[in-house]
Amino acid sequence: MFQLLRDGKPRTRADLAAVTGQARSTVAARIDLLMAAGLIAPAGEATSTGGRPPATFAFAPSAQVVLGVDLGATHARLAVTDLASTVLAHREMPLLITDGPRAVLDRVAETGRELLREAGRSTAELAGVGVGLPGPVEHATGRPNNPPIMPGWDDADVPGILGERFGAPVLVDNDVNIMALGEHRAAWPGVADLLFVKVATGIGAGIIADGALRRGAQGSAGDIGHVAVPGVTDVVCRCGNVGCLEAIASGQAVATQLEGATTPADVVAMVRAGDVTASQAVRQAGRDIGAVLATSVSLLNPSMIVIGGALADAGEHIVAGIREVVYQRSLPLATQHLRIVTARTGTQAGVLGASAMAADQALSPEAVDRLVA
Ligand SMILES: [Zn+2]
Repeated sequence: MFQLLRDGKPRTRADLAAVTGQARSTVAARIDLLMAAGLIAPAGEATSTGGRPPATFAFAPSAQVVLGVDLGATHARLAVTDLASTVLAHREMPLLITDGPRAVLDRVAETGRELLREAGRSTAELAGVGVGLPGPVEHATGRPNNPPIMPGWDDADVPGILGERFGAPVLVDNDVNIMALGEHRAAWPGVADLLFVKVATGIGAGIIADGALRRGAQGSAGDIGHVAVPGVTDVVCRCGNVGCLEAIASGQAVATQLEGATTPADVVAMVRAGDVTASQAVRQAGRDIGAVLATSVSLLNPSMIVIGGALADAGEHIVAGIREVVYQRSLPLATQHLRIVTARTGTQAGVLGASAMAADQALSPEAVDRLVA
């Protein structure tokens, strides 16, 4: 019943009894428990067809707060949000992931507490912490697994270290998965099957299928950066293989190809300034990404592909290249209603997704049962 109410719509006791199939008395008792826990609140009266109008109830997302943490190679974004991921206090700061888990997580804990104070909330009201890391993470344990750009972080007990500091459950995932979750919840909540592709220094994807993020057995589902691009045999990737998508079409790879560019941001600036060579390089990167995404479309049949990450700021050039190949290489049924667009949440995708991941755990049926027991 509570999961139904999480959409924020006010409902009467009769509505909830009808949808859940439970007796009116059971629904009424449950509403009292949820109200006592602060998770739902009266939401006015429904329109009546005669007689006294019935009371309605709705989710009360401000009952508790969560902390969303998005860690990149050189920056951190943190936000204290309510349980519906509405941002109450936010901070963005330079932070080197190479400083290692202790130093970085100390900084996160300190900043998180500052943000809680800014939002006027206490650590007792903190229902959970969600963290995104720029490398592979075993989701079940929350530990990074041989992360290439995070020296010292392999197998670090991130949930243990932060859990001790906050006294709340900590969930950890890779940055692409939390971006996919953030973009999906904030911009396309009604789309059940969505593929989010991050094109930045590296390339990765997050899979939303049947409305939920799919991580695979070990948490590496969607890791498309090291899939071989058909026909490429002369480019060696940092992973040791030849022809990896990331080595050919990432923001970093495009920057390397262009004179006057060293980072993905430089590439975007050149495209925006009307540099034709840069635009062509980005479009070609789009085609190469499209070749790999065409296979993903055949496997997953998403109704939407959303392109995020730094190179997405080059706008239509990358999307045009991707569309060109995906539509050409997929069967008509798979692409009939397929939309390919750039992300709407921009730099906030990660922190919103980290918040959503923590809120989902805090509001899971098991957690709600414990709370009202
Ligand atoms: Zn590779």
